[in-house]
Amino acid sequence: MPDPLQLLLDVQDRDLSADQLRHRRASLPERLARAEQEGLIVRVDTELAELQARLADLQRSQKRIEDDVATVQAKSEAENKKLYSGTVTSPRELQAMQEEIDALTRRQHDLEDEVIVLMETAEPLTEEIDRLEAQRGAAETDAARLAALIVEAEGVIDGELAAVLADRDGIAAGVPDDLLATYEKLRVHLDGIGVARLDGVQCTGCHLSLPATEVAAVRKATPGAVVYHEECGRILVP
Ligand SMILES: [Zn+2]
Repeated sequence: MPDPLQLLLDVQDRDLSADQLRHRRASLPERLARAEQEGLIVRVDTELAELQARLADLQRSQKRIEDDVATVQAKSEAENKKLYSGTVTSPRELQAMQEEIDALTRRQHDLEDEVIVLMETAEPLTEEIDRLEAQRGAAETDAARLAALIVEAEGVIDGELAAVLADRDGIAAGVPDDLLATYEKLRVHLDGIGVARLDGVQCTGCHLSLPATEVAAVRKATPGAVVYHEECGRILVP
């Protein structure tokens, strides 16, 4: 029958492999890269929302002025029609109408100038919105590519992890329950290492050297007896 302590060392070995796989799974570089792309998308969205709101304001102003232009133009055309209809014959009245038409034309030009200013203000905003939308699209593509890589890497790691854990459970079945429970409790508090080998005079768990008397005590212990390294608290196997 295999020595339970030797089996426990094998369980420890598989547990460390499983820990490494879990660590690798959690710290895949693609995860960080994807988080960066997602952060970028959030920042770009904030900027886009602000620019789009400013652009919408400008477009509303432009629409209002263009409506005014249409009104002024209609009025001017009506006056013109009346002027040339022959219904008005008084020179003073005709003169007044011509002045009114001239005033409307000036007003129309002023409004059209305002529209041009608004369009010129909107142009760089539109360009910046286009640039940000392209940047957002590229970030989304990249994030999707990274997500696929993460799923793929996770699949590979999960496969390896399942194999290691199955192996571990098979070995652990040969370890008495109370010894296994003690080991697992130690593992939680001691950086994942609950049992260590005595290598010469050194504990492979904490890498401290043991005094000669302690080494002798470990080596002399009854076979199968559970001995602990006093310094680090781990189960020590001679
Ligand atoms: Zn130790």
